[in-house]
Amino acid sequence: MQVRVRYAPSPTGSPHVGGVRTALFNYLFARRHGGAFVLRIEDTDTGRNRPETVAEFLDAFRWVGMDWDEGPDVGGPWGPYVQSERTAFHREAAERLERSGQAYRCYCTVEELEADRERARHEHRPPRYSGRCRNLSQRERERLRQEGRASTLRLKVPEDGVTVVHDLIRGDVTFEHQTLGDFVIVKSDAMATYNFAAAVDDNGMGITHVIRGEEHLSNTPRQILVYQALGLPLPLFAHVPMILAPDRAKLSKRHGATSVAEFREQGYLGEALCNYLLLLGLSPQGDEELFSLAQAVEHFDLDRIQKNAAVYDVKKLTWLNGIYLRRMDVDQLEAAARPFFERAGIPLEAVDPAWLRQVLVAVRERVSTLAEMVEAARYFFEEPTAYDPAGVDKHFSAPQTPQLLREVAEALASLETFDAAGVDAALTRLAQERDVPRARLIHPVRLAVSGRTMGPGLFDLVALVGRERSVRRLRAAADRIEAAS
Ligand code: GLU
Repeated sequence: MQVRVRYAPSPTGSPHVGGVRTALFNYLFARRHGGAFVLRIEDTDTGRNRPETVAEFLDAFRWVGMDWDEGPDVGGPWGPYVQSERTAFHREAAERLERSGQAYRCYCTVEELEADRERARHEHRPPRYSGRCRNLSQRERERLRQEGRASTLRLKVPEDGVTVVHDLIRGDVTFEHQTLGDFVIVKSDAMATYNFAAAVDDNGMGITHVIRGEEHLSNTPRQILVYQALGLPLPLFAHVPMILAPDRAKLSKRHGATSVAEFREQGYLGEALCNYLLLLGLSPQGDEELFSLAQAVEHFDLDRIQKNAAVYDVKKLTWLNGIYLRRMDVDQLEAAARPFFERAGIPLEAVDPAWLRQVLVAVRERVSTLAEMVEAARYFFEEPTAYDPAGVDKHFSAPQTPQLLREVAEALASLETFDAAGVDAALTRLAQERDVPRARLIHPVRLAVSGRTMGPGLFDLVALVGRERSVRRLRAAADRIEAAS
């Protein structure tokens, strides 16, 4: 049997990390077993549907490194891959159930249903459909139809007994039919409900394993009842535990970034986010925490998905991102960083690409995201407008500092070869001549040239800032210290 799995996002908002992780698990399962990974867009909730977000989903999936064998953009033999284009299949299945008496028209009004729910609440019963329309005679049905009442189609659920979901991650989970009630499979606008459309489409698209978020576990017995009513073989089911916030609440906006787009804007890398999401909730394979999607394929299986919810930790993601940033190929780093510079108001048109790459390599050692990298690099492009105040107290306060800074400026101005080794030699020579420790020069020079107390190695930093700008900044700092004292 060829494995066929699907990820079926509803394009109702921006793709969220939880969903992307579920998609990744599907992807890995397909690749591991030589199967097909299918994307299906579930756009039948017309009220919440936002078609413009479909492209965002595809983009987010590509960004974390996934590709797919079939989907709305690439097509495939089991299409259509957009649920709203599959309504003929839903209609055909619904008609079959209605004809065979396994589903029936329900004419209850919204008010009647609300009153039923209210009563159930009052009597502490689970709110399930009363069955009012289940046994209407042909005449009663005709009368209600002629009144012009809208109708839905409900599946007849056995009143007793249970449906057991054999979940590949959680084991057997039992649902009492009494709690389910006859549920709606076709809405009054003739659109199939999620549970109906998902079951019909999963079968119609040859899906063998339904791997989805735990929040759908309570839908699964309903979908199983649909399969059974239609006489269809069941796929296997696996429900992936949720991602929880550090306070163990459901991860949401108030916990910071949750959409893939936000992480991307903050300068996280697709590969790092992918790696993090896979670490989250998979039993470790040895000690190795860093792996690519391709490496993960070799070790993945559903039995590695932990049963408990995973707790999200942005610090760990940030740490991983820093590692990826430092390991990144320099050309890729440059390409990834460019838009962040533009967005931070640092135009790069006139900048020598080779120099830019050197700057990036120098600053990436101490940052974790692309956005941080741009801020850490800002003084390579702009004059420092202020000095780190703690640094000023510590490194600019000695009385001879302005004089020393001017002397460094002179030494650099007349340096034969202006490179890191030359800067190093010039500072060493000057420290000896003035009989001060090298640190007495190094710290004030760093502060004067960069405005900061930390950063890349000073000699590289000065060499990269360049002779003219370094000399100017050293003199400007001397002037400013004198003016302030
Ligand atoms: N459209 C559903 C969602 O986005 C998919 C659920 C499923 O995988 O069956 O949550």
